Amino acid sequence: MKEKIGYSLLRDPRKNKGTAFTLEERKKYGLEGLLPEQVETLETQMLRINGQLGLIDLPINKYIYLTNLLTTNQTLFFNLIMNDPAKFLPLVYTPTVGEACEKMGHISRGVKGLFISIHQKDHIKEILRNWPEEDIRFTVVTDGGRILGLGDLGVCGLGIPIGKLALYTGCAGVPPEYTLPIVLDTGTNNEAFLNDPLYPGIRQKRITGPEYDDFIEAFVKAVNEVYPNICIQWEDFKGVDAIRILNKFQDKVCTYNDDIQGTAAIATAGYISVSRLMGKPFTEQKFLFLGAGAAAFGIADLLVQKFQKDGLTREEALEHIWMFDVNGLLVKSRNDLADYQKQFAHSGDFTNDFSEAVLRVKPTAIIGVSTVGGAFNQRVIENMSLINERPIIFPYSNPTSHSECTAEQAYTWSKGTAIFASGSPFAPVEYEGKTFTPGQGNNVFIFPAMGLAIFATGAKRVTDEMFITAAEAVAEQVTPSDFENGLIYPQVKDILKVSINVAVRIAEKIFETGLAGVKKPYDIREFIISKMYIPAYK
Ligand code: NAD
Repeated sequence: MKEKIGYSLLRDPRKNKGTAFTLEERKKYGLEGLLPEQVETLETQMLRINGQLGLIDLPINKYIYLTNLLTTNQTLFFNLIMNDPAKFLPLVYTPTVGEACEKMGHISRGVKGLFISIHQKDHIKEILRNWPEEDIRFTVVTDGGRILGLGDLGVCGLGIPIGKLALYTGCAGVPPEYTLPIVLDTGTNNEAFLNDPLYPGIRQKRITGPEYDDFIEAFVKAVNEVYPNICIQWEDFKGVDAIRILNKFQDKVCTYNDDIQGTAAIATAGYISVSRLMGKPFTEQKFLFLGAGAAAFGIADLLVQKFQKDGLTREEALEHIWMFDVNGLLVKSRNDLADYQKQFAHSGDFTNDFSEAVLRVKPTAIIGVSTVGGAFNQRVIENMSLINERPIIFPYSNPTSHSECTAEQAYTWSKGTAIFASGSPFAPVEYEGKTFTPGQGNNVFIFPAMGLAIFATGAKRVTDEMFITAAEAVAEQVTPSDFENGLIYPQVKDILKVSINVAVRIAEKIFETGLAGVKKPYDIREFIISKMYIPAYK
């Protein structure tokens, strides 16, 4: 008996095989005539997709093509990403996704996630139940408050959860049917959007204060009721909101913030890796931050825990971390410091000259999280070279124009001795006949693996210990030949393999700390791999 579901099958991204439906399936489901007679393999279909992509010039148009593929044939989409992550990551995520979010009101097609507005606060559960899947394990949620370096993009920020969840699957094999992108519409302060007839969100200024916090609380409650096994990843909220929300919920439900914890973990991975490269214990590193805001605090907090794990007391660990903000070096005599900054203020003389602070503190590494492009000037780098054989220079501010120095400046001013990694990408640099490949602290080595481990083990909470484990595991993946090429992070082309190794280590930690929701399997690696999505037609 023929089931006439062919037409809808071709419109279901999870089940659609397009021209790869077999002749039997075509007969059975009423697909004959809806497809040309030739039955194709996945490989042939990929050839066609790659050919079509080759005809498209602009990355934003490739993005539109690819996200359209995600809503028509998921298997093909993930095949592309998993086969060539280095090529596709920049197209489905940063930098292209930033432009895609800015233009979302103008380019959006198809349903790819949920919009929940402040006006719907009292029936969030009903809205969640409109999503076609009943068992969701992972959501990435934004309120569009601070999208990448682009500011307030309101509901157009949904592109970030969509892109990020595509990477959970594409880079670590988290099954896509268990994931759900969500944007919380709390208004926008983006004047251009408020005046744009194509802006799809509510037309009002952002709500703040208790009304905002109540909405977030109602969301967390509803999402945990509808999906009891869910993990919430907060994404691209404004710094103050991000810290407040994380502090409020991290001990109550399974949740984390990648901007804070993922960034801290990838930065920590870089320093562990550098210590390995230098053959020096991690406890011998000393950090001086330029910038003492949300990013500095997140990284410093995890570094303190890593120092403690490696045997230092908390007081000793704090001695290894110094900060310098817009007003100068954080020293005890200053009376303008926020509470969270006070722990990083040390005894000593004040200076408001960063290059002078370098000579006084004698750090092995300087970390730029100040948003001030060019702040690591020639004197700063030369002073770092005076006191270190291999000065560690990490300008983390994004975008590239805000980077505290360029890769070329770091290598040139340090006469080729710097170990460099940045937040924004830099091309390889030639210096005196040698090619240096700059590192990039990319959270993609952390969050997909974290997602896979949480998904497979049914983890009840996400702890800082899990992020330290992830950082150590990422650093272990850097091979001697990577080091020879100046790399301190693994390579994106190896992301799937790296993610499995990192997820295994995180899962071990989850079982060890009693946070798993499933029984510990005999072979954790095999167990993790058995839970992964494989982009093949069934
Ligand atoms: P923030 O506003 O919370 O903090 C900025 C800090 O810089 C403040 O302490 C401020 O006093 C200090 N500052 C400003 N001007 C200064 C100056 N002239 N000299 C010295 N200090 C100065 O911002 P944030 O959320 O901490 O982000 C900082 C930067 O870090 C941003 O550019 C962001 O893109 C970047 N970041 C990068 C990553 C990454 O993965 N690479 C992750 C998170 C944040």
